[in-house]
Amino acid sequence: MSDLRLDPTQLDRYSRHIIMDEVGPEGQARLLEGRVLVVGAGGLGSPVIQYLAAAGVGTLDIADDDIVERSNLQRQIIHGDGDVGTPKAESAREYVAQLNPDIDVHTHESRVTAETVAELAAGCDVVVDATDNFATRYLLNDYCALEGIPLSHGAIYRFEGQVTTFENRSEGHGDEEHGPCYRCLFPEAPEPGTVPDCATTGVLGVLPGTVGCIQATETIKLLLGKGDSLEGRLVLYDAMGMSFEEVEIRQNPGCPLCGETPEIGSVGDIEYTGTCSLSAD
Ligand SMILES: [Zn+2]
Repeated sequence: MSDLRLDPTQLDRYSRHIIMDEVGPEGQARLLEGRVLVVGAGGLGSPVIQYLAAAGVGTLDIADDDIVERSNLQRQIIHGDGDVGTPKAESAREYVAQLNPDIDVHTHESRVTAETVAELAAGCDVVVDATDNFATRYLLNDYCALEGIPLSHGAIYRFEGQVTTFENRSEGHGDEEHGPCYRCLFPEAPEPGTVPDCATTGVLGVLPGTVGCIQATETIKLLLGKGDSLEGRLVLYDAMGMSFEEVEIRQNPGCPLCGETPEIGSVGDIEYTGTCSLSAD
């Protein structure tokens, strides 16, 4: 059915996908029909956006409220010197337009909040957390876990990265097959100011490239419905030692979001500042 919808230019552009049985014209059509929200068009978001656009993921929603700065260019490779001063979401849209005209890009130049997350993420097949702040990370985790939307998680620190996938596919709480969420690992965000950011500690420019490429790979596999995702596995990457370590992660019955007695019923229950936890009163 689907190959009829691929025009000759698309058959040419995606030919190295299409000749593989694991993708084929049906898989390529799935990618073209896919919709992904990428939150953050910085170090992690750059390779994610590049590879999803190149692969023909048909609709990309790109959310970033930042402006391109010269100090970003050492790692945020979709932005160029001429983009300094431009909103990152707009610069990302221009990048995608010159790479692949098949892709519909929706840009959102504001911060994702508890009020706007549904509008941005509803209807997406996968959400990619390519942010650098805990407030957005917990917000995306909570929304995606509650709504059953697969979420790719990536984070970087100096020479180290971590990456996993929360498929969020199971039905309801107490499900034996229920995969973990980010709050199963870390129920609350650290106190503000206790974890320094890239601007304070620095980051090896190529590091988010490696982590973001793994996130893009996971996203494409989820869209194709092929392969094994990182669900239940946290990959820790050490660029200096050039090692990848895999840690098993399990659903935590005491998780405030997806545990046996969940306390968080909607993103409206949480103020996404500080430790992103339910207030005591
Ligand atoms: Zn959980």
